[in-house]
Amino acid sequence: MSRLTTLKPRLKAIDTRRLKTLNSEELRVTGSARVGLKRRIYTRDDGCCCMCKRFVELRDSELDHRIALQFGGGNDESNLWTLCVECHAGKTARETSTRQPDREALKHDVPAGEGLPVTIV
Ligand SMILES: [Zn+2]
Repeated sequence: MSRLTTLKPRLKAIDTRRLKTLNSEELRVTGSARVGLKRRIYTRDDGCCCMCKRFVELRDSELDHRIALQFGGGNDESNLWTLCVECHAGKTARETSTRQPDREALKHDVPAGEGLPVTIV
């Protein structure tokens, strides 16, 4: 029975470091899809910042999640709006310091827009 040898285990432990969890960054819309989306939301918002209501040029406007992804906000258009650079910076700073959705932002609504599909829940 000298030929009997121990078989090497064929199953390896899974290296969990290689398993990526789906985090908020991966939900982010990027690239050309984002450019088109930004323009569409900008048009819906009549080219105005949704917080201070000032008119902003498209190139100066910022597409923002009213409720940030990290706080459970979605990528649907009812959670997306146009902000000016100043409002966006202020909102982000408040969210970072409180680690909560920005209360100032929640006082403002996302414009319903015309001709956009309305989701009835
Ligand atoms: Zn603004």
